[in-house]
Amino acid sequence: MQNSSHVLVLNCGSSSLKFAIVDPRSGRALVSGIGEALGQADSRVKWKRNGESIAKNLPAQAKHGAVIQLLVDEIIAREPSLKSHLVAIGHRVVHGGEKFSHSVLINQAVTDAIRECSALAPLHNPAALAGVEAAGSAFPELPQVAVFDTAFHQSMPRHAYIYALPYSLYRDHGIRRYGMHGTSHRYVAARAAELLNLAFNEVNIISAHLGNGASITAIRNGKSVDTSMGLTPLEGLVMGTRSGDVDPGLLMHLGCRLDYSVKQINDLLNKESGLLGISELSNDCRELEQAAAHGHSGAVLALEIFCYRLAKYIAAYYVPLTDVDALVFTGGIGENSSLIREKVLAHLQCLGYHLDPEKNLLARFGEEGGIHRDNSPAVLVIPTNEEWVIARDAAALVPPEQPNGDSVSRE
Ligand code: AMP
Repeated sequence: MQNSSHVLVLNCGSSSLKFAIVDPRSGRALVSGIGEALGQADSRVKWKRNGESIAKNLPAQAKHGAVIQLLVDEIIAREPSLKSHLVAIGHRVVHGGEKFSHSVLINQAVTDAIRECSALAPLHNPAALAGVEAAGSAFPELPQVAVFDTAFHQSMPRHAYIYALPYSLYRDHGIRRYGMHGTSHRYVAARAAELLNLAFNEVNIISAHLGNGASITAIRNGKSVDTSMGLTPLEGLVMGTRSGDVDPGLLMHLGCRLDYSVKQINDLLNKESGLLGISELSNDCRELEQAAAHGHSGAVLALEIFCYRLAKYIAAYYVPLTDVDALVFTGGIGENSSLIREKVLAHLQCLGYHLDPEKNLLARFGEEGGIHRDNSPAVLVIPTNEEWVIARDAAALVPPEQPNGDSVSRE
């Protein structure tokens, strides 16, 4: 890899496309932006370059390709050096099923396999493929790499990923626990190992990624051995608008007794539950903290349930790990909310956890560090950086015989 090599990182959602041009050595993003409301009347792009924020409307119904075209015409065309330093394109792909346990160079067989996994991520995988196609047209000379959210969890043992359902559902339909947020858990666990001066393949970490989506992972000797999300991102922790774990009997109750349709149940569990559903106020943790401070009983209850359920998962992950080198908080809530961290750790005094209140208050807005007392197991706050992982993986997979600028054939 040359000193000036950069990677275009793309994260395509069903109606959004986040992009960044990232230095894989430092993680620094030279440009970052997002296309929003894609496919709708008011689709638009916002980006940042050299501290300046710029926004532009796209034609109505514009899709992912239009965002990439704008990147080429409005950003890269004005600064040709950005393009000459690009060595690869890295894509976040949500679901790799059981086919991918590592990042891979994209070829026809890989795009076919991503398409086959679309049944497990019907909104996200087709969007990623749209991004691959558009990026391939715009940058035909660059190799493209897929980095899967599920890949890190492919090391889970069978007893952690098989549901207690008829085994044929797994055998015939791939119904099992896959887990998500793998790129984030991998990043913070590796960073925690560095901070603890331990080798990654020797470190035991419990990593809590707490954003609008939330999941927790048990990492033994640098490998995921259990995680809270399952077949879909709905399982596990309380999230912004997702319920996390519920009694599956609830679904029959809603359908048979309360006449909910499948779509209504899906919307209820994914979009109307979690912090929003409990509080009847907001899915935004910051807003709930402010409301709770003013006595809003729904906000108080939502935060209590969020923290209690998370603490129970942390305690449960002592089962696969036995020894825990550090508990790590990341994601928008984990990185910034001293209140949530304090409440979670208050539940965990039975495991010897003791928070240093001052360090806890100071750990926010991108700060990295320990927030525990000397007599406590380590508790670290580590801002996640999925774009950096994607850029590093992509740069590492650039075929060495292809110097920058030469054409690379895409199968
Ligand atoms: P993410 O999905 O990782 O961007 O995280 C979004 C969540 O982080 C939202 O619930 C925000 O309210 C929450 N968040 C961001 N900053 C803070 C903060 N300073 N205090 C509490 N929650 C925060």
